Amino acid sequence: MAEIVTRFPPSPTGHLHLGGARTALFNWLYARHHQGKFVLRLEDTDRERSKEEYVVSILEALKWLGLDWDEGPYFQSQRIGLYKQYAQRLFEEGKAYYCECPKEVLEEKKKKMLENGQKPKYDKTCRNKNLGPGEGRALRIKAPEFGEIVFEDLLRGKIVFPAEEVDDFVILRSDGTPTYQFAVVIDDITMGITHVIRGDDHISNTPKQLIIYEALGVEPPKFAHIPMVLGPDGTKLSKRHGAKSILEYKEAGFLPNALINYLARLGWGFGDQEYFTVEELIEKFDIKDVNLSPARFDPDKLLAVNAYW
Ligand code: GLU
Repeated sequence: MAEIVTRFPPSPTGHLHLGGARTALFNWLYARHHQGKFVLRLEDTDRERSKEEYVVSILEALKWLGLDWDEGPYFQSQRIGLYKQYAQRLFEEGKAYYCECPKEVLEEKKKKMLENGQKPKYDKTCRNKNLGPGEGRALRIKAPEFGEIVFEDLLRGKIVFPAEEVDDFVILRSDGTPTYQFAVVIDDITMGITHVIRGDDHISNTPKQLIIYEALGVEPPKFAHIPMVLGPDGTKLSKRHGAKSILEYKEAGFLPNALINYLARLGWGFGDQEYFTVEELIEKFDIKDVNLSPARFDPDKLLAVNAYW
């Protein structure tokens, strides 16, 4: 079998928290279990919100946890030329087109669709205009108009999206920067990623990314969308639940092993065993054993795990 390559692609717009750290851990464990590779990249194309201090703190947190990477860190902001090359190729092959619709017009149409109870979609005004690149023009991909977009999720089985749910979405903005959907796919292709393990908040992005793979004629990776980590009350985990960033746990004197053990057990289990060394986790971890119901954070349990180690 070909080498397994996973990745962890945080956006440096904040510190590394429990949810992100668990995603990193599952990708790392999967790669280590299969003697594959774990790639780190920073998705910093949002220049306003990305901060150097977060890059530093994310790397420090991963190192402290012992989640070492075999390649990277790559920075999307340093790869803009690559995204443009791929975008140009899609344009030349007639799989993407330039759109000159002003933002205000798009906003207005979107508002009307929402008022009429419709899901906002680009109405393809520019699809057949044969526009070339130019000031203020974004590049849109031609999404399929009929049929279904289907993929096999490693955890959830077959997932089907009707093609009409996806519109001709933007891959390069008018300022020449790639959108998240496009940069992720080009990175995953060029970094040889074979398995994408990420939060299920990304499921709705997957059909768009599959359209890009299809347009480029590249086989997509395998996907596993894992349930989010929730607070004890079932709402999205946040500080209010007593959850801290990874480095705050470090500063509070927690042991990295305790966090690793606790994070692994958030939604993953192996029989009745409560405590695992990192070596045991690597040996026993399989993405197929991740529980489909969302894991809940329990601060007391974390304290107990820390006390054990
Ligand atoms: N940068 C994205 C995030 O932080 C991850 C994208 C992905 O896993 O595809 O949510």
